[in-house]
Amino acid sequence: MKVGLETDQQHRRLVLKALLWMTVAAGSLFASLNIGRELWLLAAGEAFFVLFALSILRIVDRTEHLKWVMIAYLVPFFSLMVLAMLLPGTSSTVFAWIQTIPIICYLLLGLRGGFWMSLVFISLGVSAFSYHFGAQESLLTMMMLANVAISSMAIMLFSHIYERSRIKNEARLIELASTDNLTGLANRMKLAEVLERERSHAMRDNKPLSLIMLDVDYFKRINDQFGHEAGDRALRHLASVLSSRLRETDLLCRLGGEEFAVLLPGAALEQAADLANDLRRHLSKRPLELGSGQQTMTFSAGVATLGEDGQSLDQLMQTADRRMYEAKAAGRDQVVAAGQQYPLKAPDPLLS
Ligand code: GH3
Ligand code: MG
Ligand code: MG
Repeated sequence: MKVGLETDQQHRRLVLKALLWMTVAAGSLFASLNIGRELWLLAAGEAFFVLFALSILRIVDRTEHLKWVMIAYLVPFFSLMVLAMLLPGTSSTVFAWIQTIPIICYLLLGLRGGFWMSLVFISLGVSAFSYHFGAQESLLTMMMLANVAISSMAIMLFSHIYERSRIKNEARLIELASTDNLTGLANRMKLAEVLERERSHAMRDNKPLSLIMLDVDYFKRINDQFGHEAGDRALRHLASVLSSRLRETDLLCRLGGEEFAVLLPGAALEQAADLANDLRRHLSKRPLELGSGQQTMTFSAGVATLGEDGQSLDQLMQTADRRMYEAKAAGRDQVVAAGQQYPLKAPDPLLS
């Protein structure tokens, strides 16, 4: 199951690929021009860089160390840019390239990495400029130096502000996309994401992980008798009552309609079934206040655990769901876990 929004990493991979292709195109062009100008060292550096960019393009889609690949590319890339600025034949127009440093750095490395790498290479670029033209000491040179330095720093500032607000907006979007807007609980997408993460932790640490699926009994009657608005209030009431009984590490989410799930890291099947049964009692003792009186709510639940009931997210959800329907069929207001029915019936004294 594919979950989550596209991450930063995927955007950065795309930007890096665009930069690599531009390097290949521009590097090949400049290398041939510099061969014509008999600037052998520069032409060799550019040709080497084209090959370097092509070799990174081969791994960029599958590497798991994207950040290090970007650093390994950007450091020599900017170093070569600064080196080109130090060469005797370089024209002053080459210094316009300093302004691309902050944009590339922030797009690829984000806020912190972008800040430090921009600062280092803008400083080196401006120093190269003053080394190259500083001896002329004319007003025009000073003006050019000030323009290069100030415009590059301004672009760095804008990139910084933009990246900071982009990160904030992205976090807000992810939060909205993983929240159920009626109850404020996590939604199905969030459950799938957390379940996948907790499943690998549980398998790595050999710890149990269980899932409760529950469905409100006769919920349609609340809607029919008291109206849709009261139905919505009932769903919010259930969300708040169950949340108050759970731990920080448990995840309660609304799957849709009047169906909910609770993910319990660290809980084995029996503990999860006990908790589901506790939640059931807890809810039935806290009726919903309606204008005309009180309405007791109950639910039927199915419990499944990682390992015994399957390894994948889908298997776990299917088993818990099937058991929830068994609980419905057995009369509602109860919990089913691996053939056990809760509340557990007291042993028949005549049989013991
Ligand atoms: P059962 O005990 O078999 O689960 O019966 P039920 O009445 O709970 O189940 P049924 O599936 O027949 O009805 C569920 C109802 O939940 C139907 C639908 O109108 C209502 N519902 C779904 N989403 C919402 C919602 O967001 N707000 C409100 N108020 N009602 C909703
Ligand atoms: Mg129902
Ligand atoms: Mg239902």
